[in-house]
Amino acid sequence: MPRDVTIVEVGPRDGLQNETAFVPTAEKIAFVNRLADAGLTTIEVSAFVSPRWVPQMADAAEVFAGITRRPGVRYTALVPNLQGLARAREAQVDEISVFPAASETFSRRNLNQSVRDAMTTVRGICTEAQRTGMRVRAYLSVAFGCPFEGPVAPARVADLSEQLIAFGAYEVAISDTIGIAHPGQVSELIDAVTARIPRARVALHFHDTRGMALVNVYAGLEAGISTFDASAGGLGGCPYAPGATGNLATEDLLYMLDGLGAATGARIDEVATASRALEPHIGHPLPSRVLRSRPVGRRAAESGADPLS
Ligand code: MG
Repeated sequence: MPRDVTIVEVGPRDGLQNETAFVPTAEKIAFVNRLADAGLTTIEVSAFVSPRWVPQMADAAEVFAGITRRPGVRYTALVPNLQGLARAREAQVDEISVFPAASETFSRRNLNQSVRDAMTTVRGICTEAQRTGMRVRAYLSVAFGCPFEGPVAPARVADLSEQLIAFGAYEVAISDTIGIAHPGQVSELIDAVTARIPRARVALHFHDTRGMALVNVYAGLEAGISTFDASAGGLGGCPYAPGATGNLATEDLLYMLDGLGAATGARIDEVATASRALEPHIGHPLPSRVLRSRPVGRRAAESGADPLS
């Protein structure tokens, strides 16, 4: 298993984008700063998308202008097109993310483009980003299954991943957008993808909708993958199942990785502090199991909690 694991913190973007509440800009800035202080080194801060489609991300430029940039931390943003890339560049974003999908119906519904046209858009963004030395990360949505089409062939995921790396993306986050993956599928899909691109360029993005996120991460670790996406507090919900859990919570991922002795650089208590400070602004309790649990041992002694009550 990998000794060093990279966590890509997606709470401020993937999390907040899928919450109903609009979190005040100052609270978003404080949230990003706390996550960086907690030792997370890659933070997806916002998205340069149309505010008509995603009102929660309308203040992307203000958030980037307001954060304190910590050395060694990459502050990234989601970008759907060349206009978004131009806005990201103006905001001095360190790195951008693109987000094509692996199924035709999902691509048409979510991006209003066929998979082929979406990949052409992504290629254009990659070319333009590289011209100015900006790194590009690619999400591949619904790689483990599509809400409209059902199963997605591993060969298709492998083929699209290979194309994304050829376009210039440094990493492909194979994404379980609807939380449908199970661990047997993880090893099968990683085998298919790593037959075409290096293992070090594969990241995994799991949702906990069916309670499978951590066991899927474990399957990924066993397959030698060392980069995982997570969202502080489990922010984000599931856009395809109202009321259900979405993104894997960073605290839950850290609890497992800390226990396994994997080095991440992130401190679980400080991530939890960031989540708790944000919680009052989103209108519901955050779903992270670790966040909801009582502290034990030293942490209980420090907090004064009675472990027997
Ligand atoms: Mg997600």
